[in-house]
Amino acid sequence: MSEVALPASLEEVYAIRKREPGAAVLAGGTDLLVRMRADGKKPPVLIGLERIPGLSGIAIQDGVVRIGPMVTHQNLLDSPVIRKHLAVMHEAAQVLGSPPVRHMGTIGGNICTASPAGDLLPALYVLDAEVEISSPAKKRVVPIATFITGPGRTILTGQEILTGIRIPVPDPGYQGFYRKVGQRRALAISIVSMAALLMVSPDKTVRSARFAWGSVGPVVMRFPDVESSFAGRTFGPALLADVGRQYSERIRPISDIRASASYRKMVAAGLPLKILEQ
Ligand SMILES: Cc1cc2nc3c(=O)[nH]c(=O)nc-3n(C[C@H](O)[C@H](O)[C@H](O)COP(=O)(O)OP(=O)(O)OC[C@H]3O[C@@H](n4cnc5c(N)ncnc54)[C@H](O)[C@@H]3O)c2cc1C
Repeated sequence: MSEVALPASLEEVYAIRKREPGAAVLAGGTDLLVRMRADGKKPPVLIGLERIPGLSGIAIQDGVVRIGPMVTHQNLLDSPVIRKHLAVMHEAAQVLGSPPVRHMGTIGGNICTASPAGDLLPALYVLDAEVEISSPAKKRVVPIATFITGPGRTILTGQEILTGIRIPVPDPGYQGFYRKVGQRRALAISIVSMAALLMVSPDKTVRSARFAWGSVGPVVMRFPDVESSFAGRTFGPALLADVGRQYSERIRPISDIRASASYRKMVAAGLPLKILEQ
């Protein structure tokens, strides 16, 4: 059995980790506890973050939404700020796991697990999110795409923990969408997922288009050159079919127990058209 510590401040977290370098940070536990059971490896101490002020809450200030890492998926769904300004994230949280997982699991845990199938990640990538990393020595802020370096890998070192997520509020003209295909309709890890942030004029001209793809590579993928090629084109089924074609050629998925690489490419080709489905 691991000892469970519930510190009330970051300083206490750092002190425990200094004393016990093998200690693990625990948020909602929906990934960590499952992994511990599967591996049979028990850290000497689990450091629960739930009592630390400042790690929860969603606030908007100076055009930036700040989200604490202990914010649960259900908190995201309940937040008027997320619904109004970050609809793509609201849509991603809606299809993440089941009600118990959404009540326990956190945004910080989803980011630090760094799974290419993590549902919040494509949304965070199209929103150009940044993450705050804190240690006793300093605080640094890096883009989400810098933070995640591979499947299950992040740039966190030593005493560092994730202490916040910062998202610039997109222009009000942007619309956000999140679509995923899994092995079944509910409680499914994605086979392919896609977040989109689109700005389309009333005459249907695309002003700006961002797409981020999950489960098609070691990390979430964005291709700025492909994105910029859509500006000026007319929004509609023909464009979305072309978006699917282009990304399906560009992505390099692997085959695993959930799907083959060729099936993932086929699914990716059709996913943008699902934007037209409610
Ligand atoms: C039945 C089931 C269904 C699921 N379905 C989905 C799904 O559909 N989509 C999806 O994306 N995920 C799914 N998951 C995975 C999981 O629920 C999510 O990834 C969740 O967001 C993890 O958050 P958590 O708070 O539970 O993380 P935890 O398990 O507490 O932590 C995960 C990892 O992050 C580290 N960590 C957590 N917070 C911090 C921090 N602030 N700083 C540094 N490190 C930190 C922990 O040490 C651990 O290594 C599912 C899990 C289960 C059990």
